[in-house]
Amino acid sequence: MKPDICNFFPIPDLLKTDQLLCIQPHPDDLEIGAGAAVARMIQSGTKVTCLTVTDGSAGTYDSSVSQDDLIQTRYHETLKASEILGIKELLWLGFADGGNLPYEEVRTGITRTIRKIKPNAVLVCDPWLPYEAHSDHIRTGLAASEAAFLSGMPYFCPSLLEEGFEPHTVSMIAFYYTAYPNTFIDVDKTWELKLAAIDCHTSQFPPDKVNMLKDYLTAKAREQAKKQDCEFVEALKVLSTNHLHIFEDAWQC
Ligand SMILES: [Zn+2]
Repeated sequence: MKPDICNFFPIPDLLKTDQLLCIQPHPDDLEIGAGAAVARMIQSGTKVTCLTVTDGSAGTYDSSVSQDDLIQTRYHETLKASEILGIKELLWLGFADGGNLPYEEVRTGITRTIRKIKPNAVLVCDPWLPYEAHSDHIRTGLAASEAAFLSGMPYFCPSLLEEGFEPHTVSMIAFYYTAYPNTFIDVDKTWELKLAAIDCHTSQFPPDKVNMLKDYLTAKAREQAKKQDCEFVEALKVLSTNHLHIFEDAWQC
């Protein structure tokens, strides 16, 4: 047997999870990264919660838009997009958008949420995406990975124990925006829902930009579906939380 960590800890089946916590750095990331897979899982009975880490207040090139107005706009865009995907439970950490996330506070906030809703899987952006320049994405992905890996330990984020949040062990983690996918989810039935959810984020994407983004995502989903018996896939990296520490070959799983 090849000495590959995946032969010792198998890759879990994300579609079998009954409780999924989705985490996004900004309003819109989940829709772009994994909206169709999330919609599919909801339709199959998975209970889904979406946690947004920042308030989206830096997501504009237009200084005539106030940050307070932008926060409100992006909140309502997220409600509309989530309704399309079928996400009923939305939570917010409310950190300021724009690259100054306080890592330990974000990690504690995510761990608190994990202990509150007790998911068996966490879905988040991949913090190890090559060339990712937005530190909100890197810190959110890393904080969520660490929280998923260590939330079962009582003395991890010790203030949470004092608040009454008991340890909870997460069994798997899935990453969107990944360069190392190992799980290709057939999303033929929910692809249009994903595109409609992306359309809700009008503050982020003027018509020409949203069409370019949707065309790119559609071409990519078709290309990655060629080896599958379907038209569209969303490509994710799924690992057990056991893979998230010390294993040099986990990235190849
Ligand atoms: Zn983002």
